[in-house]
Amino acid sequence: MNTPSENIINSIRAQFPALGISVGKHKLVYLDNTATSQTPQRVVEAIDRAYYNTKANVHRGVHTLSQQMTLLQEEAREKARAFINAPSVQEIIFTRGTTEAINLVASCIGRDWPDGAEVIVTEMEHHSNIVPWQLLSRPGREIKLRVVPTDEHGVLDMNTYRNLFNSNTAMVAATHVSNVLGTVNPVKEIAAEARAHGVPVLIDGAQAISHRAVDVQDIGADFYAFSAHKMYGPTGVGILYGRRDLLEQMPPYQGGGEMVGHVTFQKTTYAELPFKFEAGTPEFTAIAALSQAIDFINETGYDLINAQEEYLLQYTTGQMLKRVPGLRLFGTAPGKDAIISFLIGRAHHYDTGLLLDKLGIAVRTGHHCAQPLMQALGVEGVVRASFAVYNTRAEADYFVDALCRIAPMLQ
Ligand code: PMP
Repeated sequence: MNTPSENIINSIRAQFPALGISVGKHKLVYLDNTATSQTPQRVVEAIDRAYYNTKANVHRGVHTLSQQMTLLQEEAREKARAFINAPSVQEIIFTRGTTEAINLVASCIGRDWPDGAEVIVTEMEHHSNIVPWQLLSRPGREIKLRVVPTDEHGVLDMNTYRNLFNSNTAMVAATHVSNVLGTVNPVKEIAAEARAHGVPVLIDGAQAISHRAVDVQDIGADFYAFSAHKMYGPTGVGILYGRRDLLEQMPPYQGGGEMVGHVTFQKTTYAELPFKFEAGTPEFTAIAALSQAIDFINETGYDLINAQEEYLLQYTTGQMLKRVPGLRLFGTAPGKDAIISFLIGRAHHYDTGLLLDKLGIAVRTGHHCAQPLMQALGVEGVVRASFAVYNTRAEADYFVDALCRIAPMLQ
């Protein structure tokens, strides 16, 4: 697809009220989309509608409001299913986010793993795909992480990956897209190798879902996790896709209302999927609004989203390399997503972020919840600018101009 016209991008921007706000004396230039995206009006309005018109607890009432709210929640589940091409709504579990989704899988699937069980992860994992596996260790049972390294561009070493499997391998847990490097990992190949060894695979889709069409069946993922707030949706909602036979074998995650069949003081039976994994009152107002975020992406189209983000990535990277003195880029994998991590000379990432903020530019600084990757890169932290479909070339120019302006102060 050709680069979308300014008019098209402006009509998309118009749907995001927050993009019009000012930060101090400057208009906001929001380049922190990897952390969370901004939200279109239709999503906020859906939350309002849920609060004003249909707020009643789901799945528990015979009354009209409860039934309406339940319908909205279950419509969102069906939308999420179709969005990632999962075979059944029973395989779509609502969580608080990617983090909770991964914790759910780790604690349930890993509950009875033996001492010495191994989980293969990549060097570029977010802490939320590292720590939940480490939490499975306890006195007398050590769970080991085996790590797939990356090369100097941020590309996974797939040969090493293939050689990490052994009779102790219990799980593969890999990110689809790195939140620091922007690398898009070969998740289909990763899943196929895991399947060949009879090992389940979890893909962390937190950074993939807003940029590319995800088909969990085509990928061959046993589990796929993502967060609504990174895909133009509400906060407090995540989705875990899990293969039905694995979910059925797994024990529940938490106990409480909704996840039970029958309870006595002697014994409890559990609800059918997906409710077995959804104890307590879900974030039903936000879940209802998730439908609107999915509609926004479907109506905008991944072709257009990709075309705009790819244009901004290439253009901005080119301009930065040409104009910003002392620039160090982290993550140069072919086909990477629109995430630019960098440092300027010896400047501290925090100082760079602070000066950019003074000019109205929102970027993220620090270790990005990927400290092991920072160790591998030999840095303490980086500055990260990340684009969404609503960012413009004018914003990219303003950003690069700002870097040129502040660079001399930082040397
Ligand atoms: N994985 C990756 C790759 C991420 O970028 C993030 C968010 N930064 C997460 C997991 C965690 O997502 P959440 O905080 O929404 O649970």
